[in-house]
Amino acid sequence: MSAALVKPRPAVARAVLAAALLLIVAALAFTLNPGEVQRSATTLNAQHPFAAFAVYFAFYVVATALSIPGATLLTLGAGALFGVAEGALLVSFAATIGACAAFLTARFLLRNFALERFPALFTRIDEGVARDGAFYLVSLRLVPAIPYFAVNLLAGLTTLPLRSFYLASQIGMFPATLIYVNAGASLATLGHHGAILTPRLITGLLLLAVLPIAAPRLRDAFSARRVYAKWPRPRKFERNLIVIGGGAAGLVSAYVARAVRAKVTLIEQARMGGDCLNTGCVPSKALLHAAKHGLNFTEARAAVKATVDAIAPHDSVARYAGLGVDVRLGRAIIESPWCVSVDGTKITTRAIIIAAGAEPFIPPIPGLAECPYATSETLWDIEALPARLTLLGGGPIGCEMAQAFARLGSAVTLVEMADRLLLREDDEVSAAMASALTRDGVTVLTGHRAAEVLHGAIGFSLRAEHGGQDVTIAFDRLLVAIGRKPRVTGYGLETLGIPLTKTKTVEANAWLQTLYPNILACGDVAGPYQFTHTAGFQAGYAALNALLSPFWRFKPSYRAIPAVTYTSPEIARAGLNEREAQNVAYEVTHYSFSELDRAIAEADTEGFVKVLTKKGSDKILGVTIVGTQAGELLTGFTIAMQHNLGLKKLLGVIYPYPTRSEAIRAVAGLWRQKHASARGLALLSRFFAWRRG
Ligand SMILES: Cc1cc2nc3c(=O)[nH]c(=O)nc-3n(C[C@H](O)[C@H](O)[C@H](O)COP(=O)(O)OP(=O)(O)OC[C@H]3O[C@@H](n4cnc5c(N)ncnc54)[C@H](O)[C@@H]3O)c2cc1C
Repeated sequence: MSAALVKPRPAVARAVLAAALLLIVAALAFTLNPGEVQRSATTLNAQHPFAAFAVYFAFYVVATALSIPGATLLTLGAGALFGVAEGALLVSFAATIGACAAFLTARFLLRNFALERFPALFTRIDEGVARDGAFYLVSLRLVPAIPYFAVNLLAGLTTLPLRSFYLASQIGMFPATLIYVNAGASLATLGHHGAILTPRLITGLLLLAVLPIAAPRLRDAFSARRVYAKWPRPRKFERNLIVIGGGAAGLVSAYVARAVRAKVTLIEQARMGGDCLNTGCVPSKALLHAAKHGLNFTEARAAVKATVDAIAPHDSVARYAGLGVDVRLGRAIIESPWCVSVDGTKITTRAIIIAAGAEPFIPPIPGLAECPYATSETLWDIEALPARLTLLGGGPIGCEMAQAFARLGSAVTLVEMADRLLLREDDEVSAAMASALTRDGVTVLTGHRAAEVLHGAIGFSLRAEHGGQDVTIAFDRLLVAIGRKPRVTGYGLETLGIPLTKTKTVEANAWLQTLYPNILACGDVAGPYQFTHTAGFQAGYAALNALLSPFWRFKPSYRAIPAVTYTSPEIARAGLNEREAQNVAYEVTHYSFSELDRAIAEADTEGFVKVLTKKGSDKILGVTIVGTQAGELLTGFTIAMQHNLGLKKLLGVIYPYPTRSEAIRAVAGLWRQKHASARGLALLSRFFAWRRG
């Protein structure tokens, strides 16, 4: 029977509660003088060892059942009184029985309450428990830093069966029990033999010190053994690393691995350079640039191609082969944790990096499949400028392409379901984007839900719903830009049972390791960011962790992730904006480019810099910039955030005049003014008055 269905009868619950309270009182009375308890136990042990063992056992059970802190001391005491073997036996069983009592108390008294309060949370936890509960509990038990009583109580709130809880607790706690009991036994010998630092005591203390470091590793090794159990492990490996995907993440992974002289194979199924070079950042920025400078569509296409061709050698097979990377063009399939096949050829490897990227998400809109729609992947093959272009999606890609095509001469309609563009940004940023696009001739339709694509006598049209009304938008080409989904199927993740997150990225820990620690994931396939710079950043860590783990591993820090939308004006952000900072105490400092000399000189004063600081401090929580070269300007703030430099430090930097980067000094100056001490200023004023005589 599922514990979710266990509804304790009120009478039973009350009886358990009353018994628990009684025991608390009894135990408190008992524990008021632990020294006394210990002395009595020692005396008793000398005269009646069996009775002493039984009393200590009972006391241990009661104290742990009531979650009274101090189990560690009791464990050391058991070692001191009864020695290693008997002490470990006593503690192992007493702690597990006490834990079971605490577990049952939590289940009967608190589970229904917890379920009612946090139904979604507990449903999720219960799903996890059903899948992996006992194993997870063993791994928690192995880490002494996780309080023993907290594990008992929390486990009681889940559906974990009592039997599994008992076994997992007994197994998981045993290593720590042994070490603590041994330490207690060693301490008891102090002074008995003259020398204080006996080898046994030193070993005991060393084990105690090493336990917090060793336990998580032991847990990882335990967990790894379990996941690898069904896969035959080769005795030798042909490669140190195989990288799947030749986009930003894959290329950097292979580069870093090769730089440290590892033997690495990179497998790419389509074009080297991945999305960024071929269908993403590079062509989109080249198109925006061409459109901004008045090129026509044919010229713009040529400029895009020339740009891609100019950058392609950086990512080419020839370059990577020259670096010593074994590059294979073909589809990679993960056959086992140590084997990848490419078009039928199997290669064994110590580690694998999944850098398979993402692809456009196509919504299930009726009629869409029958119309000539494009995505960011196929857009670059369009040979003639669409007279009427309808764009689905008001995110960064949608806004960039809407502006580019409008400037190239298309009649662009941008359809967004939400009530504003760039939904992740603050309202004023969305408004700035909407007015910039409108100025370029884009028809911005926010709050419009694309419902159906129609094909009539006069061509294609999109039916959108807006405020309960139907709106029909005729188009020659539809561009779908409503997001990109990670590539996670068809290359072995399913066979290996590598789990995905709720957002369908590959699940990876803070070191980018998947369920199998020698298989790592980075870039768009791992998320949560979908940028070339985050893909490259993660890739460096993934490569080193793949090659050096379990001896060494490094955790990437995502303290200040920059993101830029390359429209005119540009939108740039790092860290929190106001929308995201709802539960944080923050202050806003706002500076307009209409105040900046360089912007005035160039008659380009649109936009602002907005800095969020921790309330009462100059610590930068986030920066949003709207305006020309916002992305370049952002880097000054990103460096400050990454290295914990506050606005006061930024104020102390010399900025060349007149540049847009002076906005950094200006916004820091505004913050300083706001935080000037009125008392200090009044004192200064008096001081200067005194000096004037
Ligand atoms: C229009 C557009 C504009 C963008 N603009 C920007 C921008 O300005 N700035 C920015 O930072 N980001 C931008 N991005 C996002 C950026 O392109 C991605 O974040 C980046 O390319 C992710 O790199 P990646 O290596 O994770 O994935 P990808 O570049 O997608 O590379 C993954 C590669 O893996 C290969 N692959 C997949 N499965 C297999 C397999 N089984 N075997 C072999 N090979 C496989 C794929 O063919 C692909 O080449 C833009 C994206 C788009 C679509």
